[in-house]
Amino acid sequence: MDAAKDIIDRWENIRGRIVQSARNCGRNPEEITLVAVSKTHPARSVRVLAQAGHLDFGENYVQEALDKQEELADLNMRWHFIGRLQSNKAKFLPGRFHLIHSLDRVKTAQALDHNCAKHSVVQAVLLQVNLAGEDQKGGIPEADLIPASREIDALPGLDIQGLMCMPPFFDDQERARPFFRRLAQLRSQLENELGHALPHLSMGMSGDYPAAVEEGATLLRIGTSIFGARDLN
Ligand SMILES: *Cc1c(COP(=O)(O)O)cnc(C)c1O
Repeated sequence: MDAAKDIIDRWENIRGRIVQSARNCGRNPEEITLVAVSKTHPARSVRVLAQAGHLDFGENYVQEALDKQEELADLNMRWHFIGRLQSNKAKFLPGRFHLIHSLDRVKTAQALDHNCAKHSVVQAVLLQVNLAGEDQKGGIPEADLIPASREIDALPGLDIQGLMCMPPFFDDQERARPFFRRLAQLRSQLENELGHALPHLSMGMSGDYPAAVEEGATLLRIGTSIFGARDLN
C-alpha cells in the first residue's frame, strides 16, 4: 500500500465533500479553508500534501510544530496553531503562525502581545470558546467571552479575526450542530460589541465538518480523515 497515495486520495475526497456541502447550502466553497491537522504525523507525510499543493496545516504542540516548520522550510506552507496555549510558550509563536485558533486566556494574550511587540508583528488570532463547559478542554467560558474579548481586542499586537470551538465528541454530527450554531451567534454578538468584523469561524473536524459548513464555518480542522488514525502512545 502506498501511504503517500492514500493521503492524496483522502485529501481529494475531503475537498470534494467540502465543495458538495458548501453547494448544498448555497455557500461559495472558496470561503472555506481546509486546515490539514498534522499533529503526531511525521514531516514526510506533511511534505506529501504540501507538494501536492495544499497550503494550510494545523499543529497542536509548539515544539512539534517548530520542528516540522524547520524540516519543511523549503515548501510554501501556512501554519495554524490549534492546541492548548500556555503563556510560557507564547514567545515561540509570533511571526511563525498564519493564525492562532486557540487563544483562551487574557493572561496568555498579554504574553503573546508582549512578544509580538518585540518582533514588530501583529498576530492574527481566534478566541476559543468552551461551549459545553468541559473541564478537560481549553476555551473561554461563554459567560466570560465578552469581557475577555474586550481586553484582548485592546492589545495592539493581536488581531482578533473570529471564534473557534471544539464541541464534545459525538458519533452523530447532528449533535454537534447546535454548538456550531451557537458559535455563529456569539460571533455576531461579538461583532456588535467590538465594533469590527470577525470573518472567521473555525469549527468542524473529521466527524462533523459537513454540519459545520452548513452552520457557517470558514476554517475546517481535519486530521484523521486526511492523514489516517493517530497513534495514541
Ligand atoms: C486533533 C484536532 C483536530 C483534528 O481532529 P480529527 O478528528 O483528527 O479530524 C481538530 N481540532 C483540534 C483542536 C484538534 O486538536
